[in-house]
Amino acid sequence: MALITKSIKGTLDVLPAESHKRQFVEHTCLEIAENFGFREIRTPVFEHTELFQRGVGDTTDVVQKEMYTFNDKGDRSITLRPEGTAGVVRSYLEHGLYNEPMPQKMCYLTSCYRYEKPQAGRLREFHQFGIECLGAASPAADAEVIGVAQNIFDFLGVQNIQLEINSIGCPTCRKEYHKALKAYFDSHTGELCATCNDRLSRNPMRILDCKSPVCSEIAKDAPKVTEFLCDDCKTHFASVQKYLKAMGIDFKVNPTIVRGLDYYSKTVFEFVSTDIGSQGTVCGGGRYDGLVEEVGGPKTAALGFGMGIERLMLLMENQGLAFPSPAQCELYIASMGENALEKAAAIAHALRKEGMHTEFDVVGRSVKAQMKYANKIGAKFTVVLGDSELESGIVKLKNMNSGEETELRLDTFESDVLNITISESLKEFEDMDFSALLGDFNQ
Ligand code: ATP
Ligand code: MG
Repeated sequence: MALITKSIKGTLDVLPAESHKRQFVEHTCLEIAENFGFREIRTPVFEHTELFQRGVGDTTDVVQKEMYTFNDKGDRSITLRPEGTAGVVRSYLEHGLYNEPMPQKMCYLTSCYRYEKPQAGRLREFHQFGIECLGAASPAADAEVIGVAQNIFDFLGVQNIQLEINSIGCPTCRKEYHKALKAYFDSHTGELCATCNDRLSRNPMRILDCKSPVCSEIAKDAPKVTEFLCDDCKTHFASVQKYLKAMGIDFKVNPTIVRGLDYYSKTVFEFVSTDIGSQGTVCGGGRYDGLVEEVGGPKTAALGFGMGIERLMLLMENQGLAFPSPAQCELYIASMGENALEKAAAIAHALRKEGMHTEFDVVGRSVKAQMKYANKIGAKFTVVLGDSELESGIVKLKNMNSGEETELRLDTFESDVLNITISESLKEFEDMDFSALLGDFNQ
C-alpha cells in the first residue's frame, strides 16, 4: 500500500476498539463537573491571535514558541487554540454572561494545539477537560475547583497522584518578588540558557518553569514566592488549605510551582504522578483574577483548570485500571437467500428503533461465515433466517452464552426478543456485585 501521506507528527488517532475508553473518561469528567454545577460550553477551535497573545501572555513559551498561527485568506492572523481558558473568557464577555447569576461555572472538552517536541505524554494535538468558574473570589471556590479534579481521579480509581498547591500572589506582592528574583538570577546570567537570559528582563518568574537541567538547578535556590505574599494573599492561601482539609483532600504545598501561563494569580495547583514518565502533570490550574480585565471585561475574580486527557488515559492504562466494556451486539440475524435477507433488514431496523443493538449480514457471506462473525463481535443472541423459517413462521433464538435455544414465532419476534433480552440484562444486573461501591455508605 502506498499511502499518499501519514498523520501529522504529534497527533493521535483514537481507533474504534479504544474509543469507548475515551468516551467513558469524557462522560465521567462532564458528569462529575455537572454535580458541582458546571455546564458545558463549546467554543471554536480557532480565535484571533491577539486573544492568546494578550490572554495567555506574550512572555510565555506557549505564545512565543508553541502556537499554530497562520494568516487566513482574508489576511487575518488566526491561531488554533493552545488552551481552553482564553476562548471561554472571550465567549463569556461577548455573550454578556456576566449578566447571569454569578458565579458562571463552565466546563469543556476540547482539542488544543501546541508546536512542541512530540514524546510520551506530549503531543501537538492533545485534548483537555477544563473547567472555569467566573465571578468567585472566595477561597472556597479554589477548593471547589480542585475538588472537581480530585473527584474525577477518585471516581476513575487513579492511584499515586499528588496534589501540589502554591500561591503566586497578586500583582502587588509579585512586584516585590520579581525584584528579588531578578537580583538572584542577575548573579547567574552567565550560566542561564539563552531563553532564560531573555526571560530575566521580561518575566523572571518564567525561569522557574525552565526545563533545562542547569536553569532548574539554579532555580532551586531562588527566593520563594510564598515569602513575598501580602496579607490578603496569605490569608487567601491559608483559607484554601483549610477548606481542602475540611473536604478531606490531601495536598502538599510546593513553593516552586509557578505555572506556564501568565494569567495566574494567588492559588496555582497541579496534580502530578510519577507513573507516566517525565510529563507527569495530569492537571494544572489556578486562579486568574486579572484575565477577564485583560481580555477587555470588568474586573472579575475567576479560576479553573485544564486536565490532559491523553496523560490521564496513559496513567490509567499504566495503572491497569478497569474500563467498562464497549457496547455489545444484542442480536445477530443470520440470513440465507434474498427473501430472508429482506426480512432480516426489516427486523433489524424495527429493533434498532426500539434501541436494541442489532446486526445482520451486509457483506453477502455464507451462513457459516455469518455465525463466525457473530461470534467475533460477541453477539449475545443469534437467529438464523432461511426459506424454511419464513415458511413455517418459527425461528430459533440462540443464547450464545448458554447455548440455550428458544423457539419464537416470526410474527411476534420483535416484541418477544425485546422481552427476552431485557430480562437477560436485568438478570446480569442482579448478579453484579455492588458491595465494593456501597462499602463507603454502609460503614
Ligand atoms: P507542561 O509543563 O507539561 O508543558 P503545561 O503547564 O504547558 O504542561 P497547561 O497549559 O497547564 O500545561 O495544560 C494543562 C494540562 O494539559 C497539562 O497538565 C497536561 O496534562 C496537558 N498538556 C499540556 N500540554 C500538552 C501536550 N503538548 N500534550 C499533551 N498534553 C498536554
Ligand atoms: Mg507546556
